[in-house]
Amino acid sequence: MYLDNPLRACTVAELWSGAARGADDAVVVNLGTGVGAGLALGGALHRGVTNSAGEWGHTTLVLDGRPCHCGNRGCVEAYVGAPGILRTLAELRPGSALLHPDDQTATIEALARAAAEGAPDALDVVRETARLLGPAIADLVNLLNPEVVVLSSWVASRLGGPLLTEVRRAVARHALAGPLAATRIVLSPIPSDPVSLGAATFALEGALASAGHVRTTA
Ligand SMILES: [Zn+2]
Repeated sequence: MYLDNPLRACTVAELWSGAARGADDAVVVNLGTGVGAGLALGGALHRGVTNSAGEWGHTTLVLDGRPCHCGNRGCVEAYVGAPGILRTLAELRPGSALLHPDDQTATIEALARAAAEGAPDALDVVRETARLLGPAIADLVNLLNPEVVVLSSWVASRLGGPLLTEVRRAVARHALAGPLAATRIVLSPIPSDPVSLGAATFALEGALASAGHVRTTA
C-alpha cells in the first residue's frame, strides 16, 4: 500500500470503510479548495501511467471560461472548487452578507448555514454549483459506468444535503439513462477533517498489513 496523495487516500478510505465499500467501480469526487476524482476501476485504484489520473478538476467545463490556476480556462475546478463557488456567489449576489471575499472557508460555512435554513441567496448558489457539477459528473458516469459516485471533502461535507439533492437532479439531466440507473450518488460518511482521514487511512494500512496483501495495484 502506497498512499501518496490525499485524493487517493480519500478514495482508499471510501473503498475500505466508506460509501464505496464493496464496490469494484467507484468514483470519489473531491470538492474542496481543489477538485479531483479518485478512481477505482475493476477493484483497483487507477493511477495512470505517470501517476496523475484523476485530474478531473482540470477537464474543461466551459470553453474560454474562467481562468484556472493551472493556466487553462474553463476548468471544472474554477467553478466548483471553494474559490469558484465564492466567485459564483460574488457574481450572483454581489452584496451578499454571506460573502467573505478573502476567506473561502468562512464563505462556504456561511453558505451552508444559510442554505440549510432555506435562504434564497444561498440556495441560488448551491443550485448554480450543482448545475455546473451536473454535466461534469455525468461525464464520469457515462465514461466509467461506476456503481457509486461519492461526494467527498470539506465543501461537499459542509453543503451536504442541499447540494446532494441538486447534484442528483443535475446529473440526471446530462447522464445516459443506462449507466445512471446503475449509479448511486451519495455523500461521504467519512469526516472530512484530515486528522480523521489520517486515522482511517492508518487503520486501513494496518488491516492490509495484517492481512498480508494489498488490494490496489502499484
Ligand atoms: Zn485548471
